[in-house]
Amino acid sequence: MVIGGGMAGLLAARTLLARGIRVTLLEHSDRFGGTVDARMLGGLYLDSGAESFSTRSATVPALAAELGLGERIVTPDASGAWVQLPGKDLRASARPLPSSGVLGIPADPSDPAIGALLSRAGSLRAALDRVLPLGSLATRPTVSLGELVRTRMGEEVLVRLVAPVAGGVFSADPDDLDVDSVAPGLRTTMARLGSLGAAAGALRAAAPAGAAVGGLEGGIAQLRDRLVAELRTDGADLRTREQVTGLARSSTGWLVTTEHSGLTRRLPADGVVVATEGRAAVELLAPVLPALSGERPDPVPGVALVTLIVDIPELDARPRGTGVLVARGVEGIAAKALTHSTAKWAWLRDQAGPGSHVLRLSFGRVGDDPEDVGIGSPDDVLFRHALADASALLGVPIEASDVLDHDVVRWAGALPHAAVGHRERVARIRSAVTGQATSLAVTGGWLAGTGLVAVIEDARARAEELADALAHARV
Ligand SMILES: Cc1cc2nc3c(=O)[nH]c(=O)nc-3n(C[C@H](O)[C@H](O)[C@H](O)COP(=O)(O)OP(=O)(O)OC[C@H]3O[C@@H](n4cnc5c(N)ncnc54)[C@H](O)[C@@H]3O)c2cc1C
Repeated sequence: MVIGGGMAGLLAARTLLARGIRVTLLEHSDRFGGTVDARMLGGLYLDSGAESFSTRSATVPALAAELGLGERIVTPDASGAWVQLPGKDLRASARPLPSSGVLGIPADPSDPAIGALLSRAGSLRAALDRVLPLGSLATRPTVSLGELVRTRMGEEVLVRLVAPVAGGVFSADPDDLDVDSVAPGLRTTMARLGSLGAAAGALRAAAPAGAAVGGLEGGIAQLRDRLVAELRTDGADLRTREQVTGLARSSTGWLVTTEHSGLTRRLPADGVVVATEGRAAVELLAPVLPALSGERPDPVPGVALVTLIVDIPELDARPRGTGVLVARGVEGIAAKALTHSTAKWAWLRDQAGPGSHVLRLSFGRVGDDPEDVGIGSPDDVLFRHALADASALLGVPIEASDVLDHDVVRWAGALPHAAVGHRERVARIRSAVTGQATSLAVTGGWLAGTGLVAVIEDARARAEELADALAHARV
């Protein structure tokens, strides 16, 4: 039995089926995919959640190939993203974001493209990374991304380069992010190579495709579509609108309580994979594993995405490359990021046609005032800010009359971030689960880390362990 039909649950179900285990998957909402979803807007099938994948491993391309989508793997436009820094003149304080490192950490702080983003003093401070001794940074059990960057390269690199990128990806402040979770291998590579810049460059160079992210022609949600279709063909029992409200041990395994259309049901299972978001997972597990009651994750920030389809031929020139990440403190801008989707993905540009553009703006960061524009703002407020912010960030006026279609998608609590100490917390949770019950597995982005690569790899590994345990129990 798999609880939760996001990518983690779908991958766990697929892995169990491949091991010859009958699978029932219970999903609370009316669709599968969780934060991977798409909808038609302005005649285009557009991702409404995840829209790319990290190329730090071949995990997603390999899955895409298995699902018959291998031919559709694409790389984003080489123009890259820009960063909007604070400044009186927004246009003058927008710069291309150098793409040689990871998470905005430059591979070579002496690169003139990096210098253009920093003051003279900031550049000199960043260059100290090459000569400063590593001290305990490489060996301490936990270090935040913020502390690592600040100590090695200084505050300016942190605020002007790393914070906008980390904020765009994780909706979190670098001081709150566990560096080993958000940039696996960075500290060990730094220990080997002697500087943070060298480590960032080495990790980037190791990415198979050269670019940091890849995509799929037609959108990432096709992964979900193909997975669901394949699972159905292979005989999985896939159920939506089935909220799991309780989990208990039984003499033969587990009893899973669900609510469906006002009816309560109790379903027996030999083994269970819990693949929901973190808070839901801990609520289900705490009654059977009391050690988990203290591990309830903090509420995570929500994000509101406004997608505009506009008819503006000036945007054909891709004035800010594939989009803009907004540093904190940029006056008059509420959005934290803008993706110029038709600049980023050639397939989408071809589908939209010349002059038509897809812009996706995201609102809401950790630490925002509840009064700030974000997930709680009404649609019309978000739309107005999206128009104004897109105009200012792209340097091209965009009026409501230029908009062919638009929508607002809200993701509440959908971006768990790996806070400092994440690895220890995950280890505690994993040991509580495996120590108590071999026929139970827990997976999902809240443990594995945000992003498709981590989620897919973890779901497969946990499902394999469960399959081994069930096979062992039968012998
Ligand atoms: C706006 C946005 C953009 C993103 N962009 C990218 C990107 O470009 N690249 C990338 O790699 N990653 C991206 N991510 C992150 C990525 O989408 C997630 O890390 C990953 O999809 C999480 O999968 P999951 O299965 O762990 O969780 P979820 O997708 O959250 O799925 C959990 C599922 O469990 C269900 N559920 C919860 N409680 C119950 C219950 N009691 N009973 C039954 N079902 C339940 C939920 O309804 C949901 O379907 C993005 C995320 C967001 C929100």
